[in-house]
Amino acid sequence: MTFRTSLRHALAGALLAGLGLSGLAPAIAQAAAPQVRTQAPGFYRMMLGDFEITALSDGTVPQHMDRELQGAAPGQVEALFAGAHQTLPVETSINAFLINTGKQLLLVDTGAGHAFGPHVANRLVSNLKAAGYRPDQVDAVLLTHVHADHSGGLTLDGQPVFPKARVYLDRRELDYWSSDEARERAPAQKKPWFAAGRASLAPYAEAGRLRTFSAPAALFAGVTALTAPGHTPGHSIYALESRGQKLVFWGDLVHAGEVQFPVPSITISYDSDGPAAARQRLAAFADASQKGYWVAAPHISFPGLGHVVTDGAAYRWLPAPYSLAVEAR
Ligand SMILES: [Zn+2]
Repeated sequence: MTFRTSLRHALAGALLAGLGLSGLAPAIAQAAAPQVRTQAPGFYRMMLGDFEITALSDGTVPQHMDRELQGAAPGQVEALFAGAHQTLPVETSINAFLINTGKQLLLVDTGAGHAFGPHVANRLVSNLKAAGYRPDQVDAVLLTHVHADHSGGLTLDGQPVFPKARVYLDRRELDYWSSDEARERAPAQKKPWFAAGRASLAPYAEAGRLRTFSAPAALFAGVTALTAPGHTPGHSIYALESRGQKLVFWGDLVHAGEVQFPVPSITISYDSDGPAAARQRLAAFADASQKGYWVAAPHISFPGLGHVVTDGAAYRWLPAPYSLAVEAR
């Protein structure tokens, strides 16, 4: 707006105000730009040695963490979120991670797909495309575990979303979700997870493209599966190493960073074995903070890439500093 037009608007406003018609002033002023209210495409890129890493957002879902987190003192969860300037329910990220090794395209977890309905999360494929890749380019999917927000994106309407990919998971994880006996033992609210998990894996199994391992296992050059049972019986994490750089894909070792970094003993209702999950979390925090490697986490605020440092007797998350310089560091 030039000085002259702003003066004209000011004079018009003053005239209308003088007439008691100030409410009409906006009609004379330039129309307001409509608010857009959509988020930026959800991908974030970094290099780890020779490997290109792309964090892909599947979106966020509202979570009543005050109800889901367990083992906290009364009011502790609410206080920790308030201290982080967040109100409940919090918007929890669902992140997946694409690794281009230069030879293969690997996807660690797949987001939820339609598991929560078509309009909740379900952004992974569009963000994969925004990031410059296509689902049919993915050579392998590495599952941390078979929960809907990690494996739900494998399959849509019975068809594989990644038509050329092999799907890797720990044998213990596949055995658990395939077991009718385990399903019978599971609490009522977790029983439907068995059918959902089996449906996600089915097209890959039928096509002979399901691969199981017994962690620890070297899967590809620079890619190792490690076992971290607790959240689920065959929960896996994946370590990536290239040119002296290391990144560990954590799966569900953390669901609420604002609470579990300061108090790692707090567990979540989704854990199969809460105390074991807490032990794995504490061991992972200690290892990551001592060794200083990168961490990629599905439920830490997107892109979920960063480092862990000690904070007194507890821990703190340091998100990756945003950078346009996508190069080895
Ligand atoms: Zn999970």
